[in-house]
Amino acid sequence: MLKSINDLNRHTQPIQTALNAAMERVFQSGRFVLGQEVKAFEEEFAGYCGVSHCVSLANGTDALELALRALGIGHGKTVLTVANAGMYGTVAILATGALPVYADILPGTLLVDIADLRRILDRQTVDAVIVTHLYGLLADVPEIVRLAHARKIPVVEDCAQAHGAMLRGQKAGSFGDIGCFSFYPTKNLGALGDGGAVVTSRADLAERVRRLRQYGWSGKYHADLAGGCNSRLDEIQAAVLRVMLPLLDGWNGRRREIAVRYTEKIAHPAIVTPAIHAEEYVAHLYVIRAARRDSLKQYLAEAGIPSDIHYPVPDYMQASCRHLFEGADKPATSRACAEVLTLPCFPEMSDNEADMVIDRINSW
Ligand SMILES: *Cc1c(COP(=O)(O)O)cnc(C)c1O
Repeated sequence: MLKSINDLNRHTQPIQTALNAAMERVFQSGRFVLGQEVKAFEEEFAGYCGVSHCVSLANGTDALELALRALGIGHGKTVLTVANAGMYGTVAILATGALPVYADILPGTLLVDIADLRRILDRQTVDAVIVTHLYGLLADVPEIVRLAHARKIPVVEDCAQAHGAMLRGQKAGSFGDIGCFSFYPTKNLGALGDGGAVVTSRADLAERVRRLRQYGWSGKYHADLAGGCNSRLDEIQAAVLRVMLPLLDGWNGRRREIAVRYTEKIAHPAIVTPAIHAEEYVAHLYVIRAARRDSLKQYLAEAGIPSDIHYPVPDYMQASCRHLFEGADKPATSRACAEVLTLPCFPEMSDNEADMVIDRINSW
């Protein structure tokens, strides 16, 4: 029985003993913020991503915001990104005082349309680019970095849906100037609560984020850097993530298997399935497209099959900020928001469960 598009009980139950032991270790240590577990997790996660530094934070949205602040983004600056990624990038950009400018997406992958990105870079001043690796699929980040760096524009990777995704053996987060992760519980690497991090091989950026996450302090009670806040990963979550990190590649492999099964077996003239990808894809969300998406969602729900929509509203149409983007329309983005539907996909899902979803879809 599928209770949601993922099932965190089934995810954490097999490792409950190890999680309990990790949390017990924190209780015993008597240190709950910025202690040994955080330090060890930062080293382990930097190593996993193939970069020199990791700075852990309270969540992924803070990771984006502090990455931008560390790059000097603030009032009067412009950040190029996409509008189909649930507002996370937009919220972070607006929080710094900067303004987003949106590139359209490609209908095939729903990732940034590099031709549109290049048109914008040629036409207006852009101070940073956020590349979003949506649904677990890497964007063509080497090409984006090449285009941006040729214009001296820094690149932030939003890897909150792409922990462990690779291109020719190189990990998400290690291509741009700085990579941002969320450890929200449903992410590919998810804590038992909120969490986030930046990874980078630039010592200057790591140092700035390290200060920004703690009031802008250079040392205790000396706030040298403006724009600081309180955004720390706590020891318990770091200890939990240390138990999970060695399991991530196995989990990603199983997610990919389910995605492959879906794409091979879903056959319906009114439904488009995502292409099958290899190591550059960690199947965070399995997203199909249908012009009559809402009716399909209803049809699945009638058979007890959960689904979700990531994401229903383009950022430039959101009530909180659409006044900032009068007349903005990115046609492929708007159309995708009306057509995308997310199917259940998580590492503990069985083949039988996937087949049940597939059979129901094919009979629509
Ligand atoms: C989840 C997510 C974030 C934000 O992470 P939080 O920890 O929830 O703040 C940012 N970007 C993308 C693409 C995400 O999926």
